[in-house]
Amino acid sequence: MRYAANILKISLVLITTIAASCKPVKHKEGKSGYAITAVPFTNVTLTDDFWARRIETNRTVTISFGFKKCEEEGRIRNFARAGGLLDGQYEGKMPFDDTDVYKIIEGASYCLAIHPDKELEKYIDGIIEKIAAAQEEDGYLCTWKTINPDKTPANWVKPGPRWHNLGASHELYNAGHLYEAAYAHYKATGKKNFLNVALKNADLICETFGPGKKLDVPGHQIIETGLVKLYLATQKEKYLDLAKFFLDQRGNAQGHKLYGSYSQDHKPVVEQDEAVGHAVRAVYMYAAMTDVAGIMDDSSYRAAVEKIWDNVVSKKLYITGGIGARHQGESFGDNYELPNLTAYNETCAAIGNIYWNHRMFLLTGDAKYIDVLERTLYNGMISGVSLKGDSFFYPNCLESNGKYKFNMGSLTRQPWFDCSCCPTNVIRFIPSVPNYIYARRDDSLYVNLFISGKADIEMNKTSVEISQETGYPWDGKVIIKVEPEASERFTVNIRVPGWALNKPVPSDLYRYADENREKVTLKLNAKPIDINMNKGFAVIERKWSKGDVVELNLPMPIRRVIANEKVKADLNKVTLVRGPVVYCAEGVDNDKKVLDMVIGDDVELKAEYRKDLLGGVTVITGDVSDETGGKRELLAIPYYAWSHRGPGEMAVWLSRKPVLSETER
Ligand SMILES: [Zn+2]
Repeated sequence: MRYAANILKISLVLITTIAASCKPVKHKEGKSGYAITAVPFTNVTLTDDFWARRIETNRTVTISFGFKKCEEEGRIRNFARAGGLLDGQYEGKMPFDDTDVYKIIEGASYCLAIHPDKELEKYIDGIIEKIAAAQEEDGYLCTWKTINPDKTPANWVKPGPRWHNLGASHELYNAGHLYEAAYAHYKATGKKNFLNVALKNADLICETFGPGKKLDVPGHQIIETGLVKLYLATQKEKYLDLAKFFLDQRGNAQGHKLYGSYSQDHKPVVEQDEAVGHAVRAVYMYAAMTDVAGIMDDSSYRAAVEKIWDNVVSKKLYITGGIGARHQGESFGDNYELPNLTAYNETCAAIGNIYWNHRMFLLTGDAKYIDVLERTLYNGMISGVSLKGDSFFYPNCLESNGKYKFNMGSLTRQPWFDCSCCPTNVIRFIPSVPNYIYARRDDSLYVNLFISGKADIEMNKTSVEISQETGYPWDGKVIIKVEPEASERFTVNIRVPGWALNKPVPSDLYRYADENREKVTLKLNAKPIDINMNKGFAVIERKWSKGDVVELNLPMPIRRVIANEKVKADLNKVTLVRGPVVYCAEGVDNDKKVLDMVIGDDVELKAEYRKDLLGGVTVITGDVSDETGGKRELLAIPYYAWSHRGPGEMAVWLSRKPVLSETER
């Protein structure tokens, strides 16, 4: 029983799909607690060539590869040992190796929901049995502590009893990924065997932490969003309250010694206005803060996340959507510190950035958040995994000289890492992509992303099938069919991406260096209509009937982007983009040398789709020059597809003018 390679029935309910029937009074009504609800996987079918292929590769290659690595390296044996089913010491170099297993179960659960697989289900149930065995009587679960709390997996973790050294022990981080995975497994399979393990653990943590109890916070955030999911699964407010408690306690020196800005523990979260410290910790925390703003209707949290978001998007975002500029501390840099050769841009941070921006959209209904989400999705996130699905970038640099081993000591993607957070985060994220395409609020329907396929959505109790046909991201023509069961009045909001409206990002961090004379157009039933914009969406409010067709045309000329002059690394440089896709020049296509290439403003560039290159990509070509004015031929490929043909030079940003003086560089 095999799927056609490019057709996937997605049927998973995520955070945004929880029944609202017994929502506590103090929280906002709505299926997710947010003002807007994403249309769940259950209702979305993809027929596109781009994402469906990625999801299928994740299912058929990456998940089994990940489980195999976890078997080989003892991550699954650790659960058996903690459960007394096996003798021996903890295997592994990190105190959070448990989370890799949880994350793969999360991704595999999504796949079980769309592609029933008895063998995989049985295998996962077997692992869950070991996880349950590893759980102590009172609900405690963290294998390295249970196996031997005096022998730590890494020298930066102090030995000691439970909850000791929470800044580094990752006990609460392990718990957070347990909750995220157990929630996904429960939603995907309907089974409670994993959820019950998570709830038992969360009950212990609720008994242990909180006002009048332990006041510590985790060093690495994620338990907060995990607890929100357990709240959504059970409607038990204690989980939501504990999530907010952990957030409220950050920056509060009463109860724990502050960890500082590395862990966003330098000041209360509602007073934070700049993205600092470890980027993955940060975005997981911002996502949780957005949950509190959305579900608990907390205006101070909302104001804080809006300020921090402005800081990221105006000063700390790469053109690829990547975040976290520094290798040192895996952290955000200073404002406008966006180096290319040494860019860190952890794949996990890109994934976290998508989680956060999606929540910001659900909170506000503003398309600018989807603009950032889309930029990250098509560039800085999918660059993290190879087209074959079996090797990964941990950092995602924007330039390579073929010498600096940016990827944890390697010049190209690696199958696995001692700290394998990124591969397993890719595994859990990729199958969730269909959750980001559509959303609804009251009688408004949102089309956020352009991916061929269809969705079943209920509008005013009328069942509506909405479908898209498009060659996105290579072609900007999108045919949207709106088919209500019976004629019904409602609003369809179709996102008009910022990139199509002369704004590559919703800030002044990047801008186009050229003019686009082609306008976005919209047709309704073959007749051109005026575009009525609201918060980045073209709004069409009418009585919809079977057979209604909207045609959105987003012209996709090749565009030149330049950075704000405060970004020193990109001074006098230009990058090429087309639609949502960022381009790079790679040595293998350009006589092995790209760092000396110059793309003058007047150079004519051409786009051409090449079916047989890198899984099918649109490339950009042109007659350019080198720094001394000598002739060169440019072939640029999508950034995400680089590093599949051996190591070598690569650059996203290329010089705009020949022969730069030292002072100009
Ligand atoms: Zn990572």
